[in-house]
Amino acid sequence: MKPVRPARGAAQAPEGPSDLVSPAVLLNPSFLRLIDGLQEAVWLVCARTHAVVAVNAASQALLGLDARDLVGSQIESLAATPEDALFWMDAAIGRREPLHTDTMMRHADGRMLWVSRRISHVPQPEGHGLWLVAMRDQTQQRHHDEERETLLAELRATLESTADGILVTDLAGRIRSFNQRLASLWGIPEDLLNERNDDAVQAWMRRSVVDGQGYAMRLTAIQESPLLHTSDNIKLIDGRVMERVSLPQWSRGRPIGRVYSFRDLSEKLAARQRIEELSHNDMLTSLPNRRALLERVDYAQAMARREASPFALLNVDLDRFKQINDTLGHSYGDRVIKEVAVRLKESLREVDTVARLDGDEFALLIHQADARGAEHAARRVQEAMSRPFSFDTLSFTVTCSIGIALFPGDGASADDLLASAERAMHWVKESGRSAFRFHQPRKDVDLLSRMRLDHAMRRALQEGEFRLHFQPQIAVDSGALIGAEALIRWRDPHRGDVPPSEFIPVAEESGFIIAIGQWVLQQAVAQAADWLKKGLRVPVAVNVSALQFQQPQFVDTVAQTLRAAQLPPDLLELELTESVLLRDADEALHRMQALSELGLQLAIDDFGTGYSSLGYLKRFPIQRLKVDRSFVKGLPGDASDEGIVNAIVQMGRALKLQVIAEGVETEDQLAFLARCGCQEYQGFLCAPALDPRSFEHRFKPADAIGTPPAAHASAKPVPVSAAEPVAGPSKPTVRLVRGA
Ligand code: GH3
Ligand code: MG
Repeated sequence: MKPVRPARGAAQAPEGPSDLVSPAVLLNPSFLRLIDGLQEAVWLVCARTHAVVAVNAASQALLGLDARDLVGSQIESLAATPEDALFWMDAAIGRREPLHTDTMMRHADGRMLWVSRRISHVPQPEGHGLWLVAMRDQTQQRHHDEERETLLAELRATLESTADGILVTDLAGRIRSFNQRLASLWGIPEDLLNERNDDAVQAWMRRSVVDGQGYAMRLTAIQESPLLHTSDNIKLIDGRVMERVSLPQWSRGRPIGRVYSFRDLSEKLAARQRIEELSHNDMLTSLPNRRALLERVDYAQAMARREASPFALLNVDLDRFKQINDTLGHSYGDRVIKEVAVRLKESLREVDTVARLDGDEFALLIHQADARGAEHAARRVQEAMSRPFSFDTLSFTVTCSIGIALFPGDGASADDLLASAERAMHWVKESGRSAFRFHQPRKDVDLLSRMRLDHAMRRALQEGEFRLHFQPQIAVDSGALIGAEALIRWRDPHRGDVPPSEFIPVAEESGFIIAIGQWVLQQAVAQAADWLKKGLRVPVAVNVSALQFQQPQFVDTVAQTLRAAQLPPDLLELELTESVLLRDADEALHRMQALSELGLQLAIDDFGTGYSSLGYLKRFPIQRLKVDRSFVKGLPGDASDEGIVNAIVQMGRALKLQVIAEGVETEDQLAFLARCGCQEYQGFLCAPALDPRSFEHRFKPADAIGTPPAAHASAKPVPVSAAEPVAGPSKPTVRLVRGA
C-alpha cells in the first residue's frame, strides 16, 4: 500500500511538520495496506497529538469525507460527543483502555449515522503509539432492529389484546411464548409462568381438566404430528368448557413449533342453551312452548308406532279468561296463568308434558294413554282447577274447556293431532265450556256439508224457520190423551224439510243444540201455557240433549222458562237419555233432584238402548221410562223384542215408574202392550206429531180438565197413518186427562 492515496486508499498526512505523523507509520507501509484492506472504517490517530494520521478508504465512504479533510484533523473535532471528549481527555493523560461503544456520527451530507465504534491503543516501538479508531456503520442494522422491535411490539400487543389464551411451543412442546389471557383463562399462577417452568405449567393445565389422562394423551398425539391442525373442546373441573385450536408454526417452509389458542366456550354455550331454551320455552311459565310440544309429539308418535302404545293430546283453554284480564289487569292475569301452569303440571305424571300454546291455551301430552287414560287426565285437570284461586285477598274460580285427541285415531301428524284436540276444545266452548270432550273424527267431505248445515241451522233459528209439532201420548187402557211430545221440524227454503235425524247430530256436535234445545223448551212451555189458557191441559214432553242438561245454569233456565210462561211445572216433562245419567252420575243426580224439586216430570228416553243400569233407575227421581221404538217394531212376534218390552214394563212396575212405548203403529202392537201391562203409548196408530192448530182441533178441551185419570172414560185411539198426518177437526177426539 502506498502511503497516501486520497479518496481511494488509506491516506496519510502529507509531507509536513514531522510531529504530525508518527515515523513508525510512515516507515511501515504494510500497516497502511493492512488497514486499507479492512471493511471497517479506520482512522489512525497519533496518541501524542491526537491528530488523525491516516484513514482508509472505507472511512471515506462511511462519512463522505475526503482523506484530505480528515488527515491532520484533531480527533476531538471529529468525534465530539461528551463521551468522546472524556475519552480523549483520559487518553491525553496517558490512559490506554480501549473504548467500544455505539455512537452517532455526522455524514458529510448532514445525515446522522449510527456507528459501532472501537478505539484501541496500538503501541509502537517508539513514541506514544497510535490510537486505532475502527467504525462500522450500524444505521441499516439499527433501522432493522427498530423495525423488528416495532413489529414485535405490535405482535405482542396483538397477542395480548386477543380474547383467546395463546400458547406457543416448539416441536418438543417446550413453551416459547404465551399471553396473559392464557394465564387468566387457566388460572395459572404467575410465578409458574415467570419461572418458565414448563412441566409445572403443563401439569397445572392437566390437573384443571376433568379428564386429565385423556388430555395428556391427546396433547402427546398432537405433538407427535407436527403438521396437524386440531380443534377440540376440553371440559374443566370448574364446569367451564374450553375450545382448543392448534396450528403448526412455520418458518422457512418447515414446522418449527405449534400455536395453541384456547377460548372459554362457557358463555357461548350458555348463550346457545339460553337461545335454545327461549325458542322452546314459554317466557311467562317456563313451560315448553308449541314448538317444543310438537317436537315431543313427533317423538311420542315414533315411540307409539314402535311399541304400539297409544297416547293422548289434550287442549286446555281457560274459560272467559279475558274477564280476569279486564277486571283485574293483565299482570294479575299473568299470575293466574302461572298458577294454572303449576296446577296442570301437578295434575300430570312426570313423564307427561304440559305446554303453553298461546295466551290461556295449554296442551297436555299424556303418554301411553287410551280414551280411559285421557279421560282420567282430563278429570284430574278439572279437579286441579276446581280448587279456588286466591291471590292477595281475592278468591275466585277458574274453569277450563278440554278437547281430547287420541293417537293414532285422531291425526297422523303432530299438527293434525293438535288441530283435532283444538277442535274438540272448541266444541266444548260452544257447548257451554267447563267440560271435556273427545274429538270425533269425521270425513272431510262430511265436514263441509256439516259446516253448511250448521250455518243454515243458525240462520234458520234467527229467521224463525223452526216449528214445533206435538205427538199425542195416549193411555193404553182408556185411550185418553195424557201428554204430548214436542218435536222440532225445520223447513229450509232451499233444502225443503230437513229431518231432525239429519240436523240434530250436527247441532250436537257443534254445540248449537244448546240454542236449539233452549228454543224448543221455550216454545213447548209457551204452547202448553197457551193451551192451558184455552182450557186444554196437556203436559208437554221436551227432549233435552246431554249437552244442554250439563249446562251449569240449566235448572235455573228451566225454572225461569216456566215462570215466564206461568206454566204449572207438572205440565212439563223433560226427556233425558241414558247417556246423560252415565256421564257424571253424581252431578246428574244432583241436577235431576233440583229439577224434580221444581215439580216437573222426568223421563228416560230411548230406554234400553244405552248401557242401562238398574242402579240409577232406583236412585234418580224419574217418573217415566220410554221404550224405544226399535223394540216396539218387532211386536208382536219377535221373541227378543217381546222379552225386552215385557222386562221393561215389569221393571217399571216394580220401581213404580210409568212406561210409555214409542212408535206404536198397529193395533197388534197396542194389544201386545196392553197385555203386558204397558200403560201408555205414542205413535202413528194414534197420530204423528201435529202442528199446534191441528193438535188443538184434534184434542178439544174436555169438560173434566184436571180430573184424575181413573175418573175418565177411555177413548178409542184413532189410527192415523203417516200419509195423512194432520187430523182434522172432524176426527174423533181423545178425551183429555191429566198426565200420570
Ligand atoms: P273463552 O272461554 O272463549 O276461551 O274466552 P277467553 O276470554 O278465555 O278468550 P280467549 O281464550 O279467546 O282469549 C284468551 C285471552 O287471554 C286473550 C288475551 O286477552 C289474553 N291473553 C293472552 N295472552 C296473555 C298473557 O300472556 N297474559 C295475560 N294476562 N293474558 C293473556
Ligand atoms: Mg280462553
